[in-house]
Amino acid sequence: MGVLHITREVYEQMRAHGEETYPHECCGALLGKSTADGWQVEAAVRAGNTRTDSAHNRYQISPVELIRIEREARGRGLGIAGFYHSHPDHPAQWSQTDLAEAHWLGCCYVITAVAQGKATVTNSFLLAGATEEEKRFELEIIRIKEAPSNL
Ligand SMILES: [Zn+2]
Repeated sequence: MGVLHITREVYEQMRAHGEETYPHECCGALLGKSTADGWQVEAAVRAGNTRTDSAHNRYQISPVELIRIEREARGRGLGIAGFYHSHPDHPAQWSQTDLAEAHWLGCCYVITAVAQGKATVTNSFLLAGATEEEKRFELEIIRIKEAPSNL
């Protein structure tokens, strides 16, 4: 099973975002470095949910925003490690729509369940497969890296 490494700070930022936008979905990108041991996520970038038809169970990042995010990542020496969104009052499991709309092979898709405005379970799914046709989500282990003490 793959491992997603993420700092405590980014993990909490991502979950707090889902609580803020409740009862709507939040979404954003995760920036980090690809290592032999999986993605090391170092920052989260918030994105506006551009779906107005059904913002409670759909999410989308606009192409313009994606370009801005990619530029920000490059400026920090990072890459796009994946994307996150929330599931208001739904389990932290991917939906068929989530899979259909996921196109970044090798990136992680993190889902946080927000129940009654409170973030509960957070799961990460790696978009595995070599091509769009055989893509699939694989559950990953999330390993939270505690901040180093300020010495
Ligand atoms: Zn979803």
